Amino acid sequence: MPLWLLTKKSSAATLEARARQSGKFIMLIRAALPRIQDTTRHTASPLDILLDELDETWQQADNPLRCVSCGNPVTTHNQHFSRGGQSAFHFVNPDGYQFDICLYRNALGCYQAGEASDQHTWFPPSSWQHALCDQCDLHLGWFYQSDDGDNFWGLISALLTSSA
Ligand SMILES: [Zn+2]
Repeated sequence: MPLWLLTKKSSAATLEARARQSGKFIMLIRAALPRIQDTTRHTASPLDILLDELDETWQQADNPLRCVSCGNPVTTHNQHFSRGGQSAFHFVNPDGYQFDICLYRNALGCYQAGEASDQHTWFPPSSWQHALCDQCDLHLGWFYQSDDGDNFWGLISALLTSSA
């Protein structure tokens, strides 16, 4: 845990609130940086180390939901939200594949892949991109965004696990 989190007055609730703030901060920084392929990265930059440290703090603040394939913390229970009174969704894509997904405000362990498309979108008027695990590249679901800033992640429930 970074030293700046360890002040005498910090209660557990304060630590959790700060960790959530750092989660948002990490997402903003990562979104602003060009994605670097791991194969071209020889040494971790100070920024990488800082982001990893913040990531770790964020993960400790809440039980993470992990990628079933590699165990990477993808999001947390407290990022889950309901939409239109529904907490989970069942969809069939044009190819006939069925998906059970839940919606999350943040998913720090995912990255967006491909061009945004609004074809066959499940959440009009939002467009979608693929959401991949940022550790093993497994397709975990979709990232939805719309012009009004209503951005969220729709992640496939069967591909996330609470166990470490
Ligand atoms: Zn993974």
